[in-house]
Amino acid sequence: TDLTSLILDRIRDVPDYPQPGVLFKDITPLLADPVAFAAVVDALAGTYRVDKIVGIEARGFILAAPVAHRAGAGFVPVRKKGKLPSETLEASYDLEYGSATIEVHRDAFHPGERVLIVDDVLATGGTAQAAVELVRRAGADVVAIAVLMELGFLKGRDRLVDVEVHSLVVV
Ligand code: 5GP
Repeated sequence: TDLTSLILDRIRDVPDYPQPGVLFKDITPLLADPVAFAAVVDALAGTYRVDKIVGIEARGFILAAPVAHRAGAGFVPVRKKGKLPSETLEASYDLEYGSATIEVHRDAFHPGERVLIVDDVLATGGTAQAAVELVRRAGADVVAIAVLMELGFLKGRDRLVDVEVHSLVVV
């Protein structure tokens, strides 16, 4: 479709970044195009009625903030450990080498608030799964995860069994 090519034509494949053997999807050409950027924000915001949009550091922030504005929702950052100033909840997940920890403020949500989690790329699903766990532990309800691009061959969707995953494109 139209949105698919608008997106795919503006994502650059960068070989061996950040490590040898990885083909990195670079979204900066898409962000630099005002028509494509706006279409993506509208598409991510379009389907859900929610109270809060959660953005995952760092590229998730770039999409989640305008999605929150567009959806008439609040914005909540999920950040790498040590970056949020007040009391936090944390969740860790395994990476190919080592592990990562992300955090959210304990008081980021009112009980039962409806939340949409936004990120740029769904790869193995580890980051998204940890974000879902954090939002639920903070007392809110995860309506869905919305991403610009899903790397289907990494099967991230299979890890996210109990949450709806909405991808604008799957490669
Ligand atoms: P996962 O936890 O699903 O393996 O990785 C997803 C996280 O890593 C996302 O926050 C995303 O920003 C980042 N990521 C992994 N691979 C890529 C990629 O090829 N391109 C971009 N832009 N981000 C990626």
